Amino acid sequence: MNDGSGPAHPRTGSTASAFLADVGNVWIGLWPSVASDGDKARAIATFFKLDTAAVSDWVSARGRVQCCARTGRQNRCLNLVGTHVEFDPRAWVQRIDLCGIHSQ
Ligand SMILES: [Zn+2]
Repeated sequence: MNDGSGPAHPRTGSTASAFLADVGNVWIGLWPSVASDGDKARAIATFFKLDTAAVSDWVSARGRVQCCARTGRQNRCLNLVGTHVEFDPRAWVQRIDLCGIHSQ
């Protein structure tokens, strides 16, 4: 998982570490459980009862919701939907939003 040492997100401008700091302010109790586990991604996934791939995708998107549509080549649309930042990865994985192009 990107721990924030990498570049800012190309669309949100936010770094993973800044996003995770915000997440930690929302979920009191998350960091104590993460600190007791050497694997940050696994600890966050355990805290939210999700798999580590979902948590990694959520952090990569900085909690922003990505369009669920598929392109002509069957790749997932890269457009972000709205400006809402979802701080609950359990809600984030269940969102099925469409961007302005694909909702028409
Ligand atoms: Zn789209």
